[in-house]
Amino acid sequence: MGINWYTQVQYLKGVGPKLGSILERKGYDTVGKLLYNFPRTYEDQRAMLELSKLVPDQIVTLRTHIQKVSSFNMGRSKRKIYEVMVGDSTGKVKCKFFRVPYRGYFQRFQPLQLVRISGKVTNYRGSIEFHHPTIDPITDDETMEDELIPLYSETEGLTSAKMRRLIQVALFHLTDKKNFTEHCFPDSLPDWLEKKYQLMSKQEALKEIHHPPLDVAEPLTFFRSPAQKRIIFEEFFWLELYLASKKTGFKNQTSPKMITNPKWTSQFLNSLPFELTGAQKIAFQEIHKDIAKSQPMHRLVQGDVGSGKTLVALLAALVAVESGYQVSFMVPTEILAEQHYKNSLKFFENLPVKIGLLTGKQKTKEKNDNLEKITSGEFDLCIGTHALMQKDVSYKNLGLVIVDEQHRFGVNQRKELRSKGQAPHFLVMTATPIPRTLAMTAYGDLDVSIINELPKGRQVITTKKALANKRDKVYGFMLDQVKKGRQVYIVYPLVEESEKMDLKDAVSEFEKLKNLFPDTRFGLLHGKMKSDEKENTMGLFRDHKIDVLVSTTVIEVGVDVPNANLMIIEHSERFGLSQLHQLRGRVGRGAHKSYCVLMLGYAQSDEARMRAEVMEQNSDGFKVSEYDLEMRGAGEFLGTKQSGLPGFKMANLVRDLEILKLAREAAFDVFEKDPKLKKEEHKALLKTLYENHKDIVG
Ligand code: ADP
Ligand code: MG
Repeated sequence: MGINWYTQVQYLKGVGPKLGSILERKGYDTVGKLLYNFPRTYEDQRAMLELSKLVPDQIVTLRTHIQKVSSFNMGRSKRKIYEVMVGDSTGKVKCKFFRVPYRGYFQRFQPLQLVRISGKVTNYRGSIEFHHPTIDPITDDETMEDELIPLYSETEGLTSAKMRRLIQVALFHLTDKKNFTEHCFPDSLPDWLEKKYQLMSKQEALKEIHHPPLDVAEPLTFFRSPAQKRIIFEEFFWLELYLASKKTGFKNQTSPKMITNPKWTSQFLNSLPFELTGAQKIAFQEIHKDIAKSQPMHRLVQGDVGSGKTLVALLAALVAVESGYQVSFMVPTEILAEQHYKNSLKFFENLPVKIGLLTGKQKTKEKNDNLEKITSGEFDLCIGTHALMQKDVSYKNLGLVIVDEQHRFGVNQRKELRSKGQAPHFLVMTATPIPRTLAMTAYGDLDVSIINELPKGRQVITTKKALANKRDKVYGFMLDQVKKGRQVYIVYPLVEESEKMDLKDAVSEFEKLKNLFPDTRFGLLHGKMKSDEKENTMGLFRDHKIDVLVSTTVIEVGVDVPNANLMIIEHSERFGLSQLHQLRGRVGRGAHKSYCVLMLGYAQSDEARMRAEVMEQNSDGFKVSEYDLEMRGAGEFLGTKQSGLPGFKMANLVRDLEILKLAREAAFDVFEKDPKLKKEEHKALLKTLYENHKDIVG
C-alpha cells in the first residue's frame, strides 16, 4: 500500500521507533500532520550576511562557526547564563541563553563547527548579541545551493534539518503519480472553489511552502505567497462554513414574535433624566426589528464601557415582558447581578414588571423559592449569574436571553443557554469591543450592533503611568480629589499577600492606607468576601460613605458610581490591555474630570510599559482591543479554552484579515445562493466539514 495523508509517520523511510515517538509526542503522528508543520522562517542562501554588518532589531539567518560554549552564574542566584560565541573572519558575536532550550542542547556544539543561526539581533549595552537564537549544526549533506531553506522549530532529537528531510520524503511519496489516490491530499477545497477564488491546489501549496522557489522569498516571509494564502484561506473557510451553516440553521427555528407597538418602553424612556444617544436608538431599533420576527435573533451589541448597553438591553427586556414573555438576564458576577437587580427595580418601579434575582450564593430556601417563581412564570425578568443557566432552572415561557459582559462567558456556555426553552431570542452585550477578525470568527454567527457613541458629557480619562517612586505624589493627588468631594478606586491584582511575588495586596494595603491617612474613609472589596459584605461595602461607596475603595478586580465590570473620578491601578503590569480598559471605564461616568494612574512595579517588562503607553494614548476601546489582540493573540484575548476557535496552523487573526474576509464571503455565499443545500457540490462541502473538521464542529 502506498503512503498517503493518514499514514503513520513510522512508515516513512528514516523514522525509527525513537524518532517515531518524538514525532508522536509533538503531534506529528501522521504524514498529513507532518506536512502541516510549517516552517518558522526561511534562510535565503543568496543573501549571506556578514557578522560585522548586523543591525539591531533585524531578524536574520546566517551561517558561521562555533568558537566557544561557556556558562556562568547570574548574580548571586543559582541561575546560569549560557553563552555561545560564534564568529569567523568577518566578526564575532555572543549568543546568550538565560535558560537551556532542551537537555543536551549545548553539548551538540564543538569549536569550529559550521552552524546556522537565526534570531533577532539585540543591542545589549552597545554591543551586538543574539538572545535565544536558534542554532542548528549544518550537516554535510546540505549543499550550498541557490535556494530557500525552510527552517522548522526544533526540539531534542528533532533538528530542523531532520524535519526538512522527513517532509521532503513525505511529499515525494504523496505526489508520486503512480501512488496517487484521493487519500493523498484529502478533505481539501473542491476544484470549483479553487477556481472561483483563484487558489492553487493544496498539493501544490504544500510543496511550495516546504520547498519554495527563490522568487517567492519576499512574500513568503510576510505570509503572502500564493501557497500560504491557499492554506490560510482553507483554514478560515471551514470555520466560516460552519458559522454560515449555524446561522442558516437559526433561521429554521421559531421563536416568539414580540409586539411591534410597545407602550412601556416610551413610558420608561420618559421617566429617565436623559435622552438615548443616537447609537443607542439605532441599536434598540435593530434589536426590536429582530425580536418582532418569528426567527430567533442572535445579536451581539458591542460598545465601549459606559456607552449605555445595559440600558438598551433593558429596553429589549421591556418589549419582551410586555409581549408576555420571560427574560433571562445573565451577568458575570454577583455584585453586578445585585446592582442590575436594584437598578431595574428602580427603573421599572412604575411598570408592571416582576423582577427576580438568582445567584449562586443564595441560601437553598431562597433559591428554591426563586426557582419556583421562574417556573411558574411569576418572575418576568430574571436577573442573575451563571446560576440562571443551571439545569434546575426551567422557565414558563422564556422569550429573550440577554448575556451582559459576554467576554467571560465563552462560546460553549452560549450553546447551553440556547437550549433552554423553545428557541428564545438571544442578545449578547460585550463591554470589550471585539476586533473585526474576532467578530468574524469567534462571534461570526451573530449579527452585530455597534454603539459607537458615548452619552453626552462623557470625557476622555486622562491616563498616566507612574513608577513606584512617584507613589507619594499619586497619594497627594488622591487626597486632593477626596478633599474636593470626589471618590477614588485603588485596584490590586491579588487578594492575599503572596510571599513569592512582591505584589501589594488589597487587604494589607487597605490596613496600611487607613493608618497613613486616618482622615480619609477607606473601604475594602475583594472576591473572597461574603456576598452581603460585598454588597454592603458597594452600597456605602455608592452612598459616598466611603471615599476610597481599595479592591481587587471584582469591580471590573459594570459597577457604576458617577462621583468616582480617579482610579489608581497598582501593579498595572500584571493586567492585560482589555482588563485595564475595563477597569478605567469605572471612572469618567459623571460630570467631573477623571483620571487613571497606572502604577508600574520596578520589575516591568518592555511589554508592560508598552501596554501602559497604549492606555495613555488611546481612549477608544476598539483601538485598545486591536492592540490587545495583536499583543496577546486570539486564544489569550478570549480566554484560551473559551475562544471556541480551532487551533489555526498557519492562519493568524491579526495578520490575515483580508484572506479571512474572502473566506467568509465564499462560505456565506454558499448558503445565500443555496440555503437548503440542494446542489450536490454544496452538500459535499457540508459533509466534508462534519466528517473531517471535528475541531470546528465540536
Ligand atoms: P454600559 O453597560 O455600556 O457600560 P450602562 O448602560 O451601564 O453602560 O450605562 C452607564 C451609565 O450611563 C448608567 O448610569 C446609565 O444610566 C447612563 N446612561 C445610559 N445611557 C445614557 C444616555 N443616553 N445619556 C446619559 N446617561 C446614560
Ligand atoms: Mg453594562
